[in-house]
Amino acid sequence: MRVLIIEDDRMIGESLVTALRNGGYSVDWARDGETGNSSLKTDTYDLVLLDLGLPKLPGLEVLKQLRQRKNPVPLLILTARDSITDRVQGLDLGADDYLVKPFALEEVEARIRVLLRRNAGHAEATLNNGAITLNTLTKEVQYRGTSLILSAREYALMYALMEKPGKVLSRAALEEKLYGWDDEISSNTVEVYIYALRKKLGNSVIRNIRGLGYVAASA
Ligand code: CA
Repeated sequence: MRVLIIEDDRMIGESLVTALRNGGYSVDWARDGETGNSSLKTDTYDLVLLDLGLPKLPGLEVLKQLRQRKNPVPLLILTARDSITDRVQGLDLGADDYLVKPFALEEVEARIRVLLRRNAGHAEATLNNGAITLNTLTKEVQYRGTSLILSAREYALMYALMEKPGKVLSRAALEEKLYGWDDEISSNTVEVYIYALRKKLGNSVIRNIRGLGYVAASA
């Protein structure tokens, strides 16, 4: 799951980046509205955290342009402003939710999980495709009698494969879900995580579709 944070406050930005990376998200951080806006034009994200008071381009303008481009990415507004007008305007412009600063990181993460679930069309905290069960809260996976807690990156990979059951994801698509701008990607890292998951859960847990990519076991 790739998240874009658009936030100029260094402390808030850094704590969000750290918390979300630890949670298995791949994170990009844009420190002003203009950079955020251009990132949204060039990259694909699963979720956006948007501050409203931003240098160069106001957050509401970033949001407005995003929705004008018909980009439906789930978006959570982070605002220090206690002005109700801003929040209402943000929601009217197409934000999915908002959080008023200061906020607890646990709450940000919980709201993110809700938005991602809603976007994927299910209301429960568990993804289940009939063969694999993935708990988005505990990062626990179950497959053919084996149950274990995944590392952040293993979880990110499994989540990507479980998000749309039956969908084959190319290595490039998986890399995009797993890594942000600042991460160095060596040429075979996706395979490394797939190898680790197969070793723990059995070879059949992730299938390789020749020339196309990978798909999660469905039986
Ligand atoms: Ca700000």
